[in-house]
Amino acid sequence: MRQELLRTEKMNVVSQLAASVAHEIRNPMTSVRGFMQLMQKEDLTKEQQMYISISIEELDRAQEIINQYLALAKPQTDQYEIIDLSSTIQQSIDVMHSYAILNSIHISQHVEPSLKIEGLKLEIQQVLINIIKNAIEAIKEKGEIRVLAFKNINGYVCIEIKDNGMGMSKEQLKKLGSPYYSTKEKGTGLGLTVCHQIIKQMGGRITIDSELKKGTSFTIKLPSK
Ligand code: ADP
Ligand code: MG
Repeated sequence: MRQELLRTEKMNVVSQLAASVAHEIRNPMTSVRGFMQLMQKEDLTKEQQMYISISIEELDRAQEIINQYLALAKPQTDQYEIIDLSSTIQQSIDVMHSYAILNSIHISQHVEPSLKIEGLKLEIQQVLINIIKNAIEAIKEKGEIRVLAFKNINGYVCIEIKDNGMGMSKEQLKKLGSPYYSTKEKGTGLGLTVCHQIIKQMGGRITIDSELKKGTSFTIKLPSK
């Protein structure tokens, strides 16, 4: 089944308020994380070590939520520039490489060279990382992710990220992109909301094909420059 990624608009006001608070909270959190890491090096019991690593993990999760909120709140189209999408895709795959290896997942890629789009490099990178991360998490163990990117005859750049993971039912597909929708124990449910917002702002769209137990394919289409 195929579905276009949409989302409810009421998120905007809430996310802008949250983002300004989030920005202020980032610095103290970074220093707490630093001290936690220092403490980890001391002579500790196994139990104490476990408490510290859980604290660090939870701080990282809070940081991830903050990052997603910040992305939602600042559509900065005035800072858009022409970016080399091919190398941005490469960098995003590189960032996710260790997470993939850790889960015995191979990422293959067929990316046409010198694809160009207009937008913000960090934002498109955040989109690709969110989608690749979801793909890895959908596979659980041993699987493949394929990343394709090419320019089509209508002057659009298409990026396809395909996994052979657990897939989604029709009902699940319909819920995609609603803020906080997550089927994961420690999910934020903000990743795809952010992806949709960023791609829409850049004049593109995301469609998803998915079949339960077979896998999922995300396609991003953006105007080529
Ligand atoms: P999170 O990853 O924090 O749960 P997202 O917004 O990134 O939040 O994703 C929302 C939900 O969409 C996930 O919890 C999962 O149920 C579903 N999903 C996203 N990508 C995939 C995928 N590649 N395969 C299967 N389900 C997916
Ligand atoms: Mg996610």
